[in-house]
Amino acid sequence: MSRVFNFSAGPAILPEEVLQRAREEITDWHGCGMSIMEVSHRGKEFTRVAEQAEADLRELMAIPDNYKVMFLQGGASGQFAMIPLNLMTAEQSADYIDTGAWSERAIAEAKLLGKAKVVGEGRSAVPRQHELALNADAAYLHYTPNETIGGLEFDYIPEAGDVPLVVDMSSNILSRPIDVSRFGLIYAGAQKNIGPAGLVVTIIREDLIGKARPGTPTMLDYKIHADNGSMYNTPPTYSWYLAGLVFDWLKQKGGVAAMAEINQRKAAKLYAAIDGSDFYSNPVAPINRSWMNVPFTLAKPELDGEFLKQADAAGLTSLKGHRSVGGMRASIYNAMPEAGVDALVSFMADFEQRYA
Ligand SMILES: *Cc1c(COP(=O)(O)O)cnc(C)c1O
Repeated sequence: MSRVFNFSAGPAILPEEVLQRAREEITDWHGCGMSIMEVSHRGKEFTRVAEQAEADLRELMAIPDNYKVMFLQGGASGQFAMIPLNLMTAEQSADYIDTGAWSERAIAEAKLLGKAKVVGEGRSAVPRQHELALNADAAYLHYTPNETIGGLEFDYIPEAGDVPLVVDMSSNILSRPIDVSRFGLIYAGAQKNIGPAGLVVTIIREDLIGKARPGTPTMLDYKIHADNGSMYNTPPTYSWYLAGLVFDWLKQKGGVAAMAEINQRKAAKLYAAIDGSDFYSNPVAPINRSWMNVPFTLAKPELDGEFLKQADAAGLTSLKGHRSVGGMRASIYNAMPEAGVDALVSFMADFEQRYA
C-alpha cells in the first residue's frame, strides 16, 4: 500500500523523507553496527545525535543563548504540572487565558497546585489584549497559542509586562517564525509538529530555572534536567533522534520562514473551500483560524460517516473531528504536503456536488 494523506491531530504525519532515512539507519546507525535506539544515551553516538538535534532546533527557532532547551518526558500534560511546581509558590497565583480544551486542562492542573486565575476567555475568537484582566503580581501568564481541538490560533502575542509568558505550543511550534525572547517558557509535545510521541520539548529562560517549590519531585524539577542536559535519567532516545531528523529536514526545506509560507497557503486553500460552500462551515473568526488544525462541519451531519468512509477510500485518513466538537478536523502540520490539501479540497468539492 502506498502512503496516504494522514490528517491525524496527533500522533501525526511525519515527513516521508524522515521515515525513509530512519529506515535506512535503523539496523546500523552511521556504521556503528547498532541502531541508535540500542546504544547508551551517554555514549558518543547518541551524544552526537542529541547535540545536533538541539543545535538544529536552536538554529531553526533562533533561540537566544540565555534559554535552555530540554528534551523531557511526560508529554505536554506533564508540563501542565511542572510549570506551576517550578514557577509559582503555593501562595502565589498565575494568570491563564482560556481558549479551549487544552487551556482547560492546563488550568485544572494548576489549580491542584495553587491559584490559577482565568484572565480572558474565548472559543471562536481569542480575547484581545485590552480584554485581558492581567494581574501584575502573577507568577506567569499561561496561554495556548494554538488550540488543537477548536482550531483557534492567537494572531498576537499578549503583552504582560514583567510577568513571564508561558505557552503550550504543542500544535504550532515550528509552523512559523516566532520571537523566542518574548517568552519565559515554551513547551510542546512532540507528536504534532516535531516527531513521534514520547518527548516534550521545553525551552526556558535561564532565570526561571532553580525555583522549584520545596517538595517538588526530582524528576519534575527543571533545574535537575537543565543541569544534566536532559539526561538525569534515560531520555526517550529514539524520539529524540527522530525529532533531530525532522529538524534536519526542516532546515533542508528552508526553515520555519519557508514553512510559514507553505502553511499559510495550505490553510488558505482549505478555508477558502469551506467558506466558498454552503455545505461546509467553520465557526472560528477568520483572524484566529488555525494554520495547523482546521475543524469543519457538514450541513448534513447525518452524512459524516459517509464522508469519512469515502475520504478514507480516497487515501485521505483520520479526518474525524474530536469527539467534543464533532464533524471533521483536518490537521495540516508541516509534514502534510500541499498535495494532500489539494486532494482534500477536491474531494470535498466532489462530495458536496454529489450529496448537497
Ligand atoms: C496534544 C496536545 C496536548 C497534550 O499532549 P500530551 O503530550 O498528550 O500530553 C496539550 N496541549 C496541546 C495544545 C496539544 O495539542
